[in-house]
Amino acid sequence: MPDPVQEGRSETAETVFGEIVSRGRNLLKCIQCGACTGSCPSGRRTQLRVRRLMEKVLMGFEDMLNSDDLWLCTTCYVCFDRCPRDAQPTSVMKRLRNIAVRKGFMKPAHQKVARLFCETGHLVPINDEVKAVRKSLGLSELPPTVHSHPESLKELQILLDVTGFRRLIG
Ligand code: SF4
Ligand code: SF4
Repeated sequence: MPDPVQEGRSETAETVFGEIVSRGRNLLKCIQCGACTGSCPSGRRTQLRVRRLMEKVLMGFEDMLNSDDLWLCTTCYVCFDRCPRDAQPTSVMKRLRNIAVRKGFMKPAHQKVARLFCETGHLVPINDEVKAVRKSLGLSELPPTVHSHPESLKELQILLDVTGFRRLIG
């Protein structure tokens, strides 16, 4: 007899469900109690509803991959701690993000930050204003990171290529 939960899933939804469950079956413990949504600090200020996202994965919807909601989570882990069933909603959220990016649903703002990281080694590169603040605090203008060690930037860029990160962001 066909499984009513599996039946009718699209290939993408099946992949999402299968990939998340393959990394741990905690998702299947979700009883849709809503404790996660009730305790989510982001959900108090945005339309993020983590219980709803869990439901969508369980029921085989795939629209969450292109949803802004997916990126409103701050990964604070409050829902993870409060979930009475150890369904690990924060982990599900992070896996959904990985799948979304792999399927080309990266948000333009994230692409921009990721490109900055590839080009400069910093998500927020040091500019003249920050340099001045650092100097006024008695610090060197540049932090002891790739900004001060350009040879390490090359190594970082090799790693970003080898791991496929640059390909991912397009
Ligand atoms: Fe309840 Fe946990 Fe499911 Fe959220 S993830 S609805 S807290 S069982
Ligand atoms: Fe909300 Fe994300 Fe924090 Fe969970 S980890 S409570 S979904 S912000």
